[in-house]
Amino acid sequence: MPVALLVIGEVADGHLTKLSAEIATLAARLASEAGGEALGLVLDAAPDAPAAEMAAHLPRVVSVASGPAADEVWAPHAAAEAQRLVGEGATHVLVGVTNDGRDVAGLLCGALGWGVLANAAGAAWEDGRLVVDALVLAGKAITRSTVDAPNAIVTVGPGAAEATALAAPGTVETRAPAGETPVPAAVVLERVAEAGAAVSLEEARVVVVGGRGVGGPEGFGLVDELASLLGGVTGASRAAVDAGWIPYARQVGQTGKVVRPLLYLGLGVSGAMQHRAGMQGSQHIIAVNRDPDAPIAEISDLFVIGDLFEVGPALAAELRARRAG
Ligand SMILES: Cc1cc2nc3c(=O)[nH]c(=O)nc-3n(C[C@H](O)[C@H](O)[C@H](O)COP(=O)(O)OP(=O)(O)OC[C@H]3O[C@@H](n4cnc5c(N)ncnc54)[C@H](O)[C@@H]3O)c2cc1C
Repeated sequence: MPVALLVIGEVADGHLTKLSAEIATLAARLASEAGGEALGLVLDAAPDAPAAEMAAHLPRVVSVASGPAADEVWAPHAAAEAQRLVGEGATHVLVGVTNDGRDVAGLLCGALGWGVLANAAGAAWEDGRLVVDALVLAGKAITRSTVDAPNAIVTVGPGAAEATALAAPGTVETRAPAGETPVPAAVVLERVAEAGAAVSLEEARVVVVGGRGVGGPEGFGLVDELASLLGGVTGASRAAVDAGWIPYARQVGQTGKVVRPLLYLGLGVSGAMQHRAGMQGSQHIIAVNRDPDAPIAEISDLFVIGDLFEVGPALAAELRARRAG
């Protein structure tokens, strides 16, 4: 059976997510190496823009308008569309390591009986079999698994490939929703818009993280200010989240969001293994900590030893001055 890799695209703020674009590039490469096909799926109330964005990376994209009703969750509908494409020949499903992506992978695993490899950091072919490198133990180790079956579901983390446009964009095929979902779609009872969440943590180019060292909810005023001055988004360590200083949605790490920004700035974060699992792929890491032995120093490009309540306001003043100038 020829290989056909299906990428389930995710949409945020009307656009294809950076992670989905990376996975699309990975799938296009794998398909071309195997002499097979790579296709994408976009399911959204307004799929045109994200489907076109996905077609920049994949030769063929199936675009489905609407799908879930406004009060239903997305994942069962995405799984239903994916099942239909599996029925048409898709042999592998690739989806992001996100809350929705994990849900879709689980639903498809149950519906199709295919195995799931989670948290891929890369994939390649060896002797005609798919080999997946996956981050485990909070990113401390990498496992290499060979898929010994003709089919698989792979959840892919950020950075497995750099999103690259094809020489010519692929085609977009518009379809009506598949209809029946593999499980009844859960109904959303209430939606709460989180303040300051205009750009998602995973998509942000700059992430400023506050840890236990910020001392309380008011300490996040400084973190928010620096995030705003740098055009970034506020994140937090689990210690700050557990203390109730900031919502869980802001948590970076093994049990929070995985971020991979151009710049990570950590204030009063020690850099525990579980926190690193969510940020060590950042391109540039700056940390401010008064403890010269804080573990985050090991992975920082710039480690500032000092009190964050001195360094932070000085940095904010400098950024404001540069803006004004
Ligand atoms: C199963 C599991 C999953 C976990 N998942 C996550 C996760 O997803 N994300 C996560 O973050 N953690 C996670 N953790 C928790 C993790 O192990 C750490 O406990 C947590 O990351 C510590 O947060 P912190 O660095 O803010 O706090 P601390 O470790 O207490 O560090 C605070 C730092 O602030 C510095 N500091 C204090 N005051 C100042 C000041 N005024 N100026 C400058 N520096 C100052 C201190 O020197 C210290 O280094 C998990 C743990 C487990 C067991």
